[in-house]
Amino acid sequence: MNIVISADMEGISGVTTPGDVHPGTPGWDHFRKIMTDDVNAAIAGFFEAGAKNIVVNDSHASMGNVVVDQLDTRATLISGRHKKHCMVEGVTKETDALAFIGYHTAAGQQGIMSHTYSGDIYHAVWLNDEICSEGYMNAVFAAELGVPVVLISGDDLTIEDAKRYAPDAGYAVVKRCVDRFTAECIAPEKTVGIIKVAARDGLTRIRKPAPGKGPYTFRIDFASANQVIAVTHIPGVEQTGTRQASYTCQTMEEALRCFEVVTIMANNSRDKIYG
Ligand SMILES: [Zn+2]
Repeated sequence: MNIVISADMEGISGVTTPGDVHPGTPGWDHFRKIMTDDVNAAIAGFFEAGAKNIVVNDSHASMGNVVVDQLDTRATLISGRHKKHCMVEGVTKETDALAFIGYHTAAGQQGIMSHTYSGDIYHAVWLNDEICSEGYMNAVFAAELGVPVVLISGDDLTIEDAKRYAPDAGYAVVKRCVDRFTAECIAPEKTVGIIKVAARDGLTRIRKPAPGKGPYTFRIDFASANQVIAVTHIPGVEQTGTRQASYTCQTMEEALRCFEVVTIMANNSRDKIYG
């Protein structure tokens, strides 16, 4: 059984504030070790439930967070960027199951460091009129390939979000959201056990997702009007409001790749002071 683990950082055990996840900072250096522990817990649970091959795809910021010499030696690690399929790199039709470790809620929603790709310039993202978290987006991408999501770890609100796109998965709540940068955390020593059990249970209940069907329409509310004009340089991306743009693709694979370009263009148009 081939499994891909997509590992983000905002939903890792004990992580609560931006200083915990900014690459190169002391806080990040501390929590990347805990991130690796959370990932290793999922690997251990999956192997107990019959996994044969596990690839970990580092999915946070510069995508070089997981500490490779602390990684369970039974798995391999996709580290660094850029990657054509970003957070779901490595997922193919040969993949049997996908897991989300350290995930978080969508832009504009409550939850620890909630965002969808961009932390500040996306006020809301919808995919076919559903609020679009990274978990939702990546699960729709995987469903197009017939791959189910079997495990999600993060705060309690992330798990609530996951129930709509992965109803049979194992859920690992590692902290309770108090506010966007405040959480009541379970000790990491304990969360590794919670993640391991959820991984094992999720893989035991594995079921093929409903086949995805296009078209796929992304609609994005931006912080400022200049970002809308910047992204409409991309063929197919249209302005649908003063601070809103939208586009439609026939496959989720194309829609996901276009979302990455939209994010690059929008970030490029951002001013440090005026946004
Ligand atoms: Zn993320």
